Amino acid sequence: MPLVWGPWSAKQFRLDRMTLGELVKAYFTYYAIQIYLLLAAVAASLAVSWAESAVPPLLAALLMVVLYPLVEYGVHRYILHSRLLYRSPYTAKLWKRIHYDHHQNPHDLSVLFGALYTTLPTIAAVTLPVGGLVAGRAGAAAAFAAGCVIFCFYEFVHCVEHLPFKPRSRWLREVKRRHLAHHFHNEQGNYGITSSLWDHVFRTFYDRPSDWPRSPTAFNLGYAGEDRERYPWVAQMSAADEEFAEARRRRARA
Ligand SMILES: [Zn+2]
Ligand SMILES: [Zn+2]
Ligand SMILES: [Zn+2]
Repeated sequence: MPLVWGPWSAKQFRLDRMTLGELVKAYFTYYAIQIYLLLAAVAASLAVSWAESAVPPLLAALLMVVLYPLVEYGVHRYILHSRLLYRSPYTAKLWKRIHYDHHQNPHDLSVLFGALYTTLPTIAAVTLPVGGLVAGRAGAAAAFAAGCVIFCFYEFVHCVEHLPFKPRSRWLREVKRRHLAHHFHNEQGNYGITSSLWDHVFRTFYDRPSDWPRSPTAFNLGYAGEDRERYPWVAQMSAADEEFAEARRRRARA
């Protein structure tokens, strides 16, 4: 996406080389984050002007906070890790952008952030109907505003999970450790990024890498061998597995 400005126009951001301060700056100058925050402000002011009383729209917004971890889990496990998206030439590029590249190159901030054309429709599809049911148009607007803010929170947590530093918050240290295990040990568990609640419910939780076997597909998400030959579109746009692995080794040494 060419819509970049500020520090983003000049260089590619590498999380393994960044400090928390640099990350905060990159985060708030990233166009997608600015758009979520702007939309949240617009939706919140619509909710205020449409609301007849404060409680129902606030309930709708609160419901989004409660629902969010399930949505995060479901989208990550059943859409991003689905093996269907690379099987069609129409969705191959999308899948590469929204998850394959992030697993192959977990420190590249430009593919760590969700793509607006996928995140905004998802936020709208979850928040508008539920918010609308709870409190009409004011509820829909309040839920959408909450959805945008929650999504920004998720994006920040996800960035911090890939930043080489030890957070002071115990909760953040734990979710960070488990998300890194999802990336570097076994990608078939620890799908929750800001919470491990639904991993416990669906039995995909593991605490330590030693609790689960190492997965050979943690970086390529199973897009390899026969599948890579049968469904060549992602491969045609990507480096070979060995090149990605070599790049990760180079970064680990540097
Ligand atoms: Zn990640
Ligand atoms: Zn890392
Ligand atoms: Zn993943």
